[in-house]
This record gives sequence, C-alpha cells and structure tokens, in this order.
Amino acid sequence: MAYQTVNPYTNEVVQKYNNSTPEEIEAALAQAYDLYQSWRDDPVASRTKYLHKLSQYFTTHVDELAQVLVTDMGKLYSEAQGEVAICADIAEYYAQNAERLLAPKSIPTIAGQAQVLNRPYGVLMAVEPWNFPYYQIMRVFAPYFAAGDPMVLKHASNTPGAALAFEKAVQAVGAPAGSFKNLFLSYDQVSEVIADERIAGVCLTGSERGGRSVAKEAGQNLKKSTMELGGNDVFMVLDDANLAEAEKIAASSRLYNCGQVCTSSKRFIVTEKNYDHFLENLKQQFAAVKMGDPMDPETTLAPMCSKKNKNKLQEQVDEAIAAGATVYYGNEPVDLPGQFFQPTILTDIDRDNPAYYAEMFGPVAQVYKVKDEAEAIKLANDSHLGLGGIVFSGDPQHGAEVAAKIETGMVFVNTYLSTLPELPFGGVKQSGYGRELGDDCIYQFVNQELVVKN
Ligand code: NAP
Repeated sequence: MAYQTVNPYTNEVVQKYNNSTPEEIEAALAQAYDLYQSWRDDPVASRTKYLHKLSQYFTTHVDELAQVLVTDMGKLYSEAQGEVAICADIAEYYAQNAERLLAPKSIPTIAGQAQVLNRPYGVLMAVEPWNFPYYQIMRVFAPYFAAGDPMVLKHASNTPGAALAFEKAVQAVGAPAGSFKNLFLSYDQVSEVIADERIAGVCLTGSERGGRSVAKEAGQNLKKSTMELGGNDVFMVLDDANLAEAEKIAASSRLYNCGQVCTSSKRFIVTEKNYDHFLENLKQQFAAVKMGDPMDPETTLAPMCSKKNKNKLQEQVDEAIAAGATVYYGNEPVDLPGQFFQPTILTDIDRDNPAYYAEMFGPVAQVYKVKDEAEAIKLANDSHLGLGGIVFSGDPQHGAEVAAKIETGMVFVNTYLSTLPELPFGGVKQSGYGRELGDDCIYQFVNQELVVKN
C-alpha cells in the first residue's frame, strides 16, 4: 500500500489506499477514450461551462479543500486556502478564454482556403507531485479539458486525499464521466498506461529523476510529453538594488510552502556591497519564524511534507558542511514531533561542494557573495537547471536586461516570483520542456489540423 496520508504535523497514519486493479485501469482508459471520441464532435463551450462550475466549486469549498492539503502534506492552512483560490482562478481563466484560443485560424495561401482547426488531441496521462497537490493538477486539467482531452492521473503517493478531493470536485460539477480519473498506480503501472494505445500524451511535474524515467517511457512509445521539473532559482541582489525591498521578500521567497516550491529562491547571489547587511537580515527573518500547528494562524513555518524528504534535506546539508560549507544560521534539531526543519543558511559553498548544483527542496538558503554583476550572472548560469529567478536592481529596465542574460524560463524583477493563470510557467535545461498556464500551453495537446478547401 504505497498510497497513504501520513499527517506530517502529528505523524498519524490517517488513511491507506490499495493500488488500482488492472480492471479499474482498463475501465478508466476505456471510458476516457470513449469520451475523447464523442468530444471530437462537441463545441468547446460544451466543456468550458464545467470549468466555470469547477471554479465556483473551488471558491465555495475552500475550507474543506484546504483542510485536505493540511492533513496530506502539512501545508499552512492560510497557504492551502491560497492554493485553492488560484485553482479557482485557473479554471475560470480557461472557462473564459478557451473558445477564443481554440477558434480556427485562417492562413492566407495560394493553395486554397486554409484553416488550422484546434481539435482534441486524445487521452492524457498526468503524473503530479505533492507540493501543490491541487494546483499542479489544475494547471494541466483546465486547459486540456477545454481542448477536449480527457485525463487519467497518477498523483504523488503521499497526497492521495488531495487526488480524491480533486476527482470529487470534477464529479460534483457534473463533468462527463471519463473526463478525469484518479488512479493509484505503481511505477510499472504508469509505464503500462503510457504504453497503452489509447493514451496520446503525458504531462509530468516532478523531479529530474521522475521526469527522466517518465519522459523515457513516453519517448519510447512516441507519445508527446511536457516536463515541469526542478529548479535552483537565484535571488540576485545587484549593487544598485533597493536593499530594504529585497530584504522584505527574501525570507518568504525561500520559506513559502516550507521551501518546497520548484521556483523557491534557493541560491541568493549578493554583491559585496550588500552582502553583510543582506545576510544578517535574512538570519533575523529566519530566526523569527514560528514553527507549529499548520492550522494555527500564528504559525509561519509548516513541517516538511514527509520524514523521507526531511531526511533527504538533512543529508544534503550534512554533505554540504562536510565539503566545507559554513552554517551561518540554523541546522539545529527542532523540538516538535512533526517533520520540522529549522530554517538554515549556508555560506562558503565552493563549486566542488555537492550542494553547489543540488536542488535543496526545503527551508535551506544558500548565500553567495559576488564581486559584481558579471560574476552574479556567471554564477546564476552555472547550473544544469533553469526554471525561474528574481533580480533586484534600482533600475527595473536594467534588471530586465540582466534577466535576459540568465538562462532560465521565468524571471521577476524587483518582486516575488508568482504564478497566475495568464502567465506561462516552465523552464529550460534540465528543468524540463513545454509550458503550463498562459495561452500557448493549450496548443501542446491539441491536434492543429490543417484543412484546405478549394
Ligand atoms: P518526484 O519524485 O519526481 O514525484 C513526482 C511524481 O512523479 C509523483 O507522482 C511520483 O510518484 C511520480 N514518479 C516519480 N518517479 C516515477 C517513475 N519512475 N515512474 C512513474 N512515476 C514516477 O518529485 P518530488 O520529489 O515528489 O517533487 C518535487 C520535485 O518536483 C522538485 O524537484 C520540484 O522542483 C519539482 N517541481 C517542479 C515544478 C515545476 O512546475 N517545474 C512544480 C513543482 C515541483 P510517487 O509519489 O509515487 O513517487
């Protein structure tokens, strides 16, 4: 029974689930494929009405849905409410915009009257992680549902409650049977589903390791895939930065969702001029967090999602220290029963330290001192990952020019890195390929069928 909810605050095993049986998998695929066939003849508006209802469902069930996230993966209740709210926004965005995005496009040509029709692509397999259990699903569900692609889901084994709550929401709004089915699959079963001829494409959000393996299965079966993988994002503070503004958001850019965000700021790169002040301020902010019950509004730092992930982070920190890193703050045991990790600041990380290239998926900040902007950009780009990033400069235009020099998928200048339905999300290098959200993502899984009439 790999799928289980273990509350990371109380360590209580809340519920265990059996893997899906071969019969359940077959029924899910058959139903999804039948729906795809009938959706090929239906207008987009026949589906967007359900997205609008789904948005309303997320809005009216915010507390119930948020509670599931707290129990499944220990998220702060306020952050869980925020996650439910953005899911409502994403569903509504595609409810409002999918018809426009999927309208046929005419092409001026001498060949005749040419049109590209955006037709459904087929049944999709989604493999999703636990860190934003609803949001990660909604990012792929809403646009592709609108496009006419039914979906089967393999969610993270530690967030089965959220997977079932999402499925319940889709059912509650009356979406056609087969449009979304959660399956509790082993890795072998995931491979079998990907290989099934009724599956047309695969979207995964997760680690490089998981992405590599699922992308390989998709590639072997010539199925299109999108990969949203890890990040080692920079938070760059240049000489001319408004230091107070940068400091205001530095700690939360690292600690939001207990540091378990693909686009968390993980490498703070600060020029010599600002370094000492920035580092000391970050330490004070880290020291001021209050760990405790995620349901308590006074708590500002939640437990990590699981004992396994906490242990992995501790190993990474231990290795970093053994290889010469300095603990500027933190790394002390926390006297609470849940999976808490004290916010930690590491400095003096050399290029040969394993931490230098590692994504630390928890509340640990690496802080680097650089001479100038050129060195900051060089350090930022010295990574096999390229997902997001933040640049602080007193001149926003200059900040944007620096952003353009960073090899990454998304950069925010002088502000938080945030996610909104209209903004494309995704990375380059080993952070994956393809984009989720925004307008263009929808074309990744539509059949752009050319029809030329004469
Ligand atoms: P993970 O281990 O790759 O798990 C993600 C999902 O993939 C889970 O459902 C997992 O199932 C499944 N999975 C892993 N290996 C698999 C395999 N060989 N075959 C089939 N399924 C497999 O990722 P994680 O460590 O839990 O999640 C954190 C990572 O996700 C971080 O690296 C983070 O940066 C990244 N992330 C990226 C984005 C983005 O948008 N770019 C967003 C959020 C998170 P099990 O749970 O059963 O192992």
